[in-house]
Amino acid sequence: MIKGNEPEFGSDTPPGFKALERLRSDTHLALLSVFVAIACLAIGSFGIYRLIRGEFAVALFEGLVVAAMLGNLAYAWITGRSQLAGTLIATLLAAGTLFLVLVLGLSYLWVFSLMIAIFLLASRVVSIALSLLLVAVIGSVPEVFADHIERLTFLTVAVQVAVFSFVFAWRTSRQHRQLHVMANRDPLTGIGNRRSLLREMARRTEAARIDGERAALALIDLDYFKEVNDRHGHDAGDAVLVDLAAIAKGTMRACDSFYRYGGEEFVLVMPGTTPEGIAPALDKLQEAIRERLRVPDGPVTVSIGAAALRADEESRNWLSRADRALYAAKSAGRDRVCIAPD
Ligand code: GH3
Ligand code: MG
Ligand code: MG
Repeated sequence: MIKGNEPEFGSDTPPGFKALERLRSDTHLALLSVFVAIACLAIGSFGIYRLIRGEFAVALFEGLVVAAMLGNLAYAWITGRSQLAGTLIATLLAAGTLFLVLVLGLSYLWVFSLMIAIFLLASRVVSIALSLLLVAVIGSVPEVFADHIERLTFLTVAVQVAVFSFVFAWRTSRQHRQLHVMANRDPLTGIGNRRSLLREMARRTEAARIDGERAALALIDLDYFKEVNDRHGHDAGDAVLVDLAAIAKGTMRACDSFYRYGGEEFVLVMPGTTPEGIAPALDKLQEAIRERLRVPDGPVTVSIGAAALRADEESRNWLSRADRALYAAKSAGRDRVCIAPD
C-alpha cells in the first residue's frame, strides 16, 4: 500500500502559473509562441515603417499575416493542437514570402530563417514540401537575383539550411519522444507510471470540479507477492506483473487507464463511473485475474480498494480513501474488492 507522504501531489496551481507550466512541459507550444512573438515583432515593425512611408498595400498584407499568426497561436493555446497551428503558420509564411519576393520584389533573405522555423514548427512532410517549393520557385526566377553567381549562392545556401534544419528537427523530435516515453511509462510492463497516473487523476479531479463529471479509482495490490518471488524467483515475479497489466488492459473499457503505482501496486482509473458502477467493473476484472494470473504452483490473486471521486475532492484524498479500502480488503482475508464509503 501507499507508503510515506506524497510530495508530488501539488496543490492546485493558480491560473497565472498554468501558462508557465504549459510552456515548460510543451516544447512545441513554447517554440511556436516564441517564434510567433519574434515574427510578429519583426513583421509588425516593418508594417509600421511601410505605413509611415505610405506603402499601404504592403502594410495591409503584413498586418493580415500578423493577425493570422496570432489567431493560429490562440487556437494552439485553446485547443492544445500546436502541431496543426504550426503547420498552418509555416504554410502561411511560405505563401506570404513567395508573394512578397515574387510579386512585390522584396528581399529573399527571409527565406533562410523561415526555412529553419518551418522545420521546427510544421510536420516533417509539410516542411520538406514547403522548403522545396520555396527554393524551387524563387530559384527559378532570374529577376530576383543580381547575377548568375548570386542565384547559385542562394540555391547552395538554401539547400544547406534545409538539410541541416531537417536533420536537427528530426533528431530533436525523436529524442523528445524517447524522453517522453522514459518519463511516463513503466519500463517493465509498458503501462503508464506514477507520474502519468497523477496527471490523469488531476484531469479527473478538475473535470469533477468544473463539469461535475464522475470517476472512480481502484488500487490493486498483489496478494502475498513476496512469497511468489521467494518461491519462484524474481523473474517469475516480474512475469506476473507483466501478465497482470495485460489482463487489466484486456478487461477494461477504452476510456479507462491502468498504471503501475510502484512495486506490486497498480491503479485503474475509470472516468464516468458512478459509485454503483464500481462493483460490476471490478468484479469482472478480479474474475479475469483469478482465471488467468498464475505461477507454476497455482493462481495469484489481488486485493482491490476502490473509491468514487467526490465532487470537490483532491487527488491525494481520493487515493488515500482507496488505500484505506485496500487495507480493509487485505485485513478481511485478501482476494476481494472493498469500496470506500461514498
Ligand atoms: P500482501 O498480500 O500483504 O500485499 O503481501 P505482499 O507480500 O504482496 O506485500 P509486501 O509489501 O510485503 O511485498 C511486496 C513485494 O513485492 C516485495 C517485493 O519483493 C515485490 N516487488 C516489488 N516490486 C517488484 C518488481 O518489480 N519485481 C518483482 N519481481 N517483485 C517486486
Ligand atoms: Mg504492496
Ligand atoms: Mg502485495
